[in-house]
This record gives sequence, C-alpha cells and structure tokens, in this order.
Amino acid sequence: MGYRVVTLEPFPSSPAGQVADQQIVAAYDDLRAIGELGARSDVVTYEFENIPLESIRALEADRRLVRPSAEVLRITQERLLEKAFVRECGIEVAPFAPVRSRDDVEAALTVCGLPAVMKTVLGGYDGKGQWVVRSEDEAYEAVAQARGRPLICEGFVAFDRELSIIATRNARDQIITFPVAENQHDHGVLATTIVPARIDRRIAARIREDAMTIARKLGIIGTFCIEFFQQGDRVLVNEIAPRVHNSGHYSLDATQISQYEAHVRAICDLPLVEPELLRPAVMVNILGTGQGDLLNGVSDLLTDPDLKLHLYGKTHAALRRKMGHFTIRARTLEEALRKAEIARKRLSWSRRETARSA
Ligand code: AMP
Repeated sequence: MGYRVVTLEPFPSSPAGQVADQQIVAAYDDLRAIGELGARSDVVTYEFENIPLESIRALEADRRLVRPSAEVLRITQERLLEKAFVRECGIEVAPFAPVRSRDDVEAALTVCGLPAVMKTVLGGYDGKGQWVVRSEDEAYEAVAQARGRPLICEGFVAFDRELSIIATRNARDQIITFPVAENQHDHGVLATTIVPARIDRRIAARIREDAMTIARKLGIIGTFCIEFFQQGDRVLVNEIAPRVHNSGHYSLDATQISQYEAHVRAICDLPLVEPELLRPAVMVNILGTGQGDLLNGVSDLLTDPDLKLHLYGKTHAALRRKMGHFTIRARTLEEALRKAEIARKRLSWSRRETARSA
C-alpha cells in the first residue's frame, strides 16, 4: 500500500521484523527505544496486547499518533476492566469476581459457582495463566500457583461453540465486520477456524451488532477481535483483543480484504470496505510439537490447489507454538473441512538430523 514499516521487538529477525523496512531490537518497556519508534513513525500500532501500558502512554505523551489508543489498551489488557466494560455495554459475560488473595475465594465462588475458571488478570493468552477449578480446594491451589498475581474468577461456560468476529473501525466511525468464525482449541491454543460459523443467522447478526456496540463505546481505531461462547440462544463475550487476531487469518485468503489491510486503512485514515467471503474456508494452525524444528510434508500440502500456506519464519517449534497456518477454500464447508483434515495429517515435525538421513 506504499507505506514503509518499522518494528520494535525484543528478538532480532522476528516474524514482522523479517518483512519490515527497519527493525528496532529492544524490550517493550525500553522507553528510549519506544521514543525512537515514535520519532521514526507517522502512526504507531501494536499487534500484541501484553505490552506495558506505560510504553503506549509515553508515545501519547510525546504527541505521537497511536492506534488503538492507550485507553483502549488499558481496558482490554486487564480482564476485570474488560469484563466490566462489556457488561456496561449491555452485553452478556459469564459471572465473574476478582480474587486478589485467598480471602476472596469464598465470595468469588458464591458469585461464579463451580466449576469455575481462574485466570491471571494481566498477561494471559493462549490459555496461559489459567486454571479450571472444580472444588474450593482447587481454587485455593490456583491462588497458590498464581504466586501473588491478581486473578479473575469466571463461571465455567458449558458452551456449544466458541465463536469470534473480527471488526475494524476508523476515525470517521466507519465500522466493518468480517464473517463470524467458529474456533476449535487445543489446550487453550487456537487449532482450527471454520468460516462461516455453523450458526443461526440471528446469532450471527447479534454478534455483528455486539461488535459495533463495543467498537463505538471503546472508541477503538483499528482492527480488533471479540471472542464469544455460544450456548443455545445465548452468546457471551469471553474477551476482546485490540489487534489483528489468529482467528481472522482466514481473511488473508478467503475475503477480498484482509484484517491486516483493514487495519492499515483504519490507522491511516483511509476508507473501509465491507469484507465479502469468497468461499467457505477452514484455517488450520501449524503448531509446534516440541519434537523438532523441521516441518515435513510441505510439498505434499502444496499439491492441493485450494490450499494457501503461510509460515512465519520462527526457528524453534516449541510445543503448541504457532509456527504458521494454512487456509483451505472450497465450494462447500464440508469439502473444506474434509480437505483440512487430510492436509493436517500430511504435516509433521522432526529434528533436522533425522530428516537429512531419511
Ligand atoms: P482465554 O485466554 O480467556 O481466551 O481462554 C482460553 C480458552 O479457555 C478459551 O478459548 C476457552 O476454550 C477456555 N475458557 C476460557 N474461559 C472459559 C470459561 N469461562 N468457561 C469455559 N471455558 C473457558
């Protein structure tokens, strides 16, 4: 789109750094480096919410344009503030209560019931810093394991499906929504996204409305994602990610505008256009297994004309680390799902030595 990009990331040659024009290698809380990033940029954005709020505030104090704003980050990176915000929007969330210490456990379980999910208020993602507790004893055990970090306790939702929506808002209050996606997880890590979600049209319409309400009340500029639990006719918000999201990666290949392009348009004050799903799609994450860093089966995978592969250039394939993804687009969702299962089985990880001798 004609823009040049500078990244700030603690590790050299990060996935974004590999394709950027310039890289600043520094910690997210290195305010000198953050100042440098601001000085080199017309607009600053972030694609990870677990960064220090102070860094974004420092950029705003320097009168740099940051999108989404520090205020959006403040709410969405703290689970208690986020849930309270969603409730204020008139949108349902699971019952929740703060657990700052053992003393709060009893009251929290009275609000949430059992089973419950305890999560660290700050810094959690991909199911990290989370405990499903089935008894009061397990709740105390979770508090002990959190080692002083504040927690949120949430009622466990016996959902039928997990859904998400990607939406983008610009400064002119134009809001676009991507098709609702259905997500399947592996130990808290997204494994598969199915689009369109296999849900009633009324539920999809409600989710789009919720996304518009949240976008406006939050005043967000940029692309964001809302994750939902669907249980019968109810949809409850699980969380908001103020950034492009893994469950929107299908949009690189299955809609005529991707979540990334929409984000760039929004933060650069360009018009937004409504995304159109070209074909039903299934996105499969390529997760590490911890059994080696060499991905086998790629050439088999690429024989399918309906498949688009994206690898992120990460060197170490730790267990369930997101190393890449592929998207299958097909005439029907059934066909896309069938092809996705075949493709998934074609991939495996091995150590480099083994592959060389094979
Ligand atoms: P999160 O980090 O909040 O997105 O949680 C990761 C995953 O844990 C979710 O995608 C769900 O599969 C599960 N989970 C989180 N919160 C709840 C809940 N309150 N009830 C049931 N499952 C949950």
